Parts: sequence; C-alpha cells; structure tokens
Amino acid sequence: MAETGQAAPHYKRIVLKISGEGFCESGQRGISMDAVTHIARQTVRASQHGTQIAIVLGGGNILRGAQFTSGTSSVHEATAHYMGMLATVMNGLALQDALELLGCDTRLMTAIKMDGVAEPYIRRRARRHLDKGRIVILVAGTGSPFVTTDTAAAQRALELDADALLKATRVDGVFSDDPEKNPHAVLYGELTYDDVRRQNLRVMDQEAITKCQQYNMPILVFNFRKEGNIERAIQGQRVGTLVHEEES
Ligand code: UDP
Repeated sequence: MAETGQAAPHYKRIVLKISGEGFCESGQRGISMDAVTHIARQTVRASQHGTQIAIVLGGGNILRGAQFTSGTSSVHEATAHYMGMLATVMNGLALQDALELLGCDTRLMTAIKMDGVAEPYIRRRARRHLDKGRIVILVAGTGSPFVTTDTAAAQRALELDADALLKATRVDGVFSDDPEKNPHAVLYGELTYDDVRRQNLRVMDQEAITKCQQYNMPILVFNFRKEGNIERAIQGQRVGTLVHEEES
C-alpha cells in the first residue's frame, strides 16, 4: 500500500482465469459478443487502477475435450483436447477485439504456435507486455492435452510471478455444496488449500490446486456476472472466496 496520496493497487500483477461460460449467455453455447463485451468493460476499468493483468481463457462454451470424446471412440481423446485448446483461441480473438474497441492495448499469446493469429507465448515477452501496461490474453492452455485451462492458469500465475490467481465463475465463490442444486449450500469467505482437499470442494481441478498450494499462490474465486466484481477482485476487495495458506 502507498503511504500517502493515492493508494497503490492491492495487486501488482494478477492472472485472471475466465471460463468459456463467460463468453456465452447463461445456459447457451458459442460466443456472444454481448457477454464478451461485459467482461471486457469490467477488465478495462480494473486495468486503469494500475494492476498488470494476464487473462487465461477457457473454451468450455465451445468444446471440452473430455466431454467431446465421452461415448465415442471415433476421435482420440488427445485430438479432442487439442480441439478444446483451439476453442480458447477463438474466445481470445473475440476478447482482444472487444478490449481494443474500448481503447485498450492488448496482446494475444498462444501456447500452440499459430503465426498470423497470435504471438507465441514466451514468458519473458509476456512479462514485458505486462510491464508496458498491455492486457495479455493467454490462449491454447498449456499447449498439452489432458489438462484444463485451470491448470494453465495456475502454471501462468506461477511463472509470471502473479500476486494472485483470480478465478471468475458464475457462482459467488466456493460453497459447501453445489449452490445451483442445494439452496442450503453455505458460501465460504476463506479456505485453506487443505480445506479444499479435505472437503473435496470444487474450486479448480486438483492439479491446479496442488500447484498453487506448493508455491502458496492465493486463489480468489468470485462471480463475474455481478457488475463490477472483476474490478473489485483485481483491486483486492473482498469478493467471493479466498483460498490461501493458513496464517502462521
Ligand atoms: N485443454 C487442454 N490443455 C490445456 C488446456 C485446455 O487439452 O492446457 C483442452 C481441454 O480439453 C479442455 C478444453 O481445452 O476441456 C477447454 O478448456 P477448459 O475445459 O479448461 O475450459 P473452461 O471449462 O474453463 O471453459
């Protein structure tokens, strides 16, 4: 925090994970530019507070590898995962244009080389873009099949030395049970990584949690559908559920 004058941003640099569901209307699939613009508007406002922002995108609004192959053997599961990674690239292109229309400087970086569409993801180059105040959109996950974009987000948060991993979801945070099915589910304000494991809570996939716990990367899970929440989360305000190590 700044000692005098304007308060410094709570986070210097964050990785924001946005699932594919943020790119379509509730209960639908594909890409809705209204939904993308809603995210872009909030992100631009948040970036004006000085926090460096890298966004890792999911692709579930178009295709998830594991779901696509379940019940069929005509597509190898690895192929389906590559298709899922390509879905994230389409989302990235849409978000980039939405952000730029709002006057934002952006870079789209892909983990699968795709000249003519996006820059290759190179850690040092991504950091340079962030230092220059550009919003960096990271697509194609890790570039490897059989994992999800949650794992990619954890990986990027660690290698870019982010202060936190912010996971934007369609529910208010982490609940004791599925809030869309159980109206009595309790919303947690704070959890430790061990709480998440012990109670088998749905925060991110196990691999992502393990990575974050190992390097003590805080995870904030919050609802992106509530206007202003992306901005609040990036400013370090208490929204949703914070998963972190127990205070010593
Ligand atoms: N995927 C992959 N490797 C990665 C990231 C993603 O194979 O590093 C594939 C995987 O099939 C996944 C799909 O891309 O299901 C789309 O990503 P995800 O399901 O994480 O999207 P979200 O649920 O966040 O919308």
